[in-house]
Amino acid sequence: MKFKPEQYRIKDQRMKPFIDPEEIWDYINKTESTPERVREVIAKSLNKERLNLEETAVLINAKDPELIEEIKQGAKTLKEKVYGNRIVLFAPLYVGNRCMNNCKYCGFRSTNKEAERKTLSDQELVHEVEALEDNGQKRLILVYGEHRDYSPEFIADNVRTVYNVKKGNGEIRRVNINAAPLDIDGFRTVKEAGIGTYQVFQETYHPEEYKKYHLGGKKKDFDYRLTSLDRAQEAGLDDVGIGALFGLYDWRYEVLAMVRHTNHFEACYNVGPHTLSFPRIQDASAIDVDPKYMVNDEEFVKLIAILRLAVPYTGMILTARESAKVRSEVMEFGVSQIDGGTKLELGAYHASRNEEQNLNREQFAINDNRSLGEIIDELVENEYLPSFCTACYRLGRTGEHFMEFSVPGFIKRFCTPNAILTLSEYLVDYAKPETAEKAWKVIDKEINGLDDDKVASQVRERVEKIKEGERDLYF
Ligand code: SAM
Ligand code: SF4
Repeated sequence: MKFKPEQYRIKDQRMKPFIDPEEIWDYINKTESTPERVREVIAKSLNKERLNLEETAVLINAKDPELIEEIKQGAKTLKEKVYGNRIVLFAPLYVGNRCMNNCKYCGFRSTNKEAERKTLSDQELVHEVEALEDNGQKRLILVYGEHRDYSPEFIADNVRTVYNVKKGNGEIRRVNINAAPLDIDGFRTVKEAGIGTYQVFQETYHPEEYKKYHLGGKKKDFDYRLTSLDRAQEAGLDDVGIGALFGLYDWRYEVLAMVRHTNHFEACYNVGPHTLSFPRIQDASAIDVDPKYMVNDEEFVKLIAILRLAVPYTGMILTARESAKVRSEVMEFGVSQIDGGTKLELGAYHASRNEEQNLNREQFAINDNRSLGEIIDELVENEYLPSFCTACYRLGRTGEHFMEFSVPGFIKRFCTPNAILTLSEYLVDYAKPETAEKAWKVIDKEINGLDDDKVASQVRERVEKIKEGERDLYF
């Protein structure tokens, strides 16, 4: 059946598209960035207040290296003060790379005849999940191309299959999705299967530029994509992740547009996005992107720090697209979730394939091939607290990032204890002895840092229970 955008419009487009390129460029071109203003804006954010577009533009326009350093330090302070040392871990699981769209940056694009197409069977999916559980993963994001085979019912079935796979002490406790935009009924169907977050990245928020990169299929329709997560909200799915693919257009514009998108959610649904993603373009089979807008490392760090300050309560995700070096540098400035042990080739977790990347089987190249164990080892070495926590979502405490941020004591009452408990499970079940040794020290330090003695002793008791074999304890 041929796709007719107008059918979707009539049924679903309840919210009007909200991006006005002229407005965004006006903020960038007309906002002055004096040292005083930059400092005022940083102070406002440290006071836990959301920044508006004009204030975000003040930070974007800061050019002096000393001021940029102050922006980075502001983001670091905000992260330390508000979120502490936790880093949440997850893994992507590619389920199918068939695709009817033709995005010029992606190895799965329909015109790429070199791409080896595959959709995991139920049995293969189970094998992948078992392999991920054997590594200690508890949180997955299922990833799909956009294809008629990947209907909401198909995705919902996959989600149920994943939750049912239990191997040893392994289980997946939160399944997120990155797939095509759905209509309202479709979002309802996947929500009923118990998903966590649904991510849709706008890629570029500039409608004209968007046209140049999206040559065929449903994804051509900028407005349908822009309003996709409004439809999720209409379906009661309020846990949504937004993002821009950096390198398609001017990074300053995209940052401001992500803040605009956040404003839109807050105004319409009283809740901001659950996560922000800021992937940078990587090499891919059949990629056709002008390097004009590529974002260098310096700009990348700056834009992450600005996003942290602009939307202080939202989770920020940094994936294995980036190298270990870049990841450890930018983690300080506000990233709260990373993937570990990532493999993009379909079926590669079970096959434990570690051979050279083959871009005909992967969406794009990644730059951090380390195993989950290696990543956890580095995190604890640097005194981060790796977390596999899924408690809020399972207890119906939605908007958890907002609570972490705004409810006094929430982190010390819930987040740190749950990070400690999930890390303890990992250490008992999966970690190498040398990693475990370092990590138990981090755990001790974190427990000692809890200022409520009652909570600290409850956490100690539960850690002992985990050592004795109990699992899935949380606050
Ligand atoms: N097919 C769906 C879609 O396009 O929304 C689902 C996810 S797609 C597999 C995941 C994301 O990967 C895209 O939204 C895009 O931002 C990102 N991506 C695509 N090509 C990329 C590349 N060459 N480098 C880095 N990220 C890329
Ligand atoms: Fe398909 Fe998504 Fe790749 Fe576009 S980005 S070609 S929709 S998989």
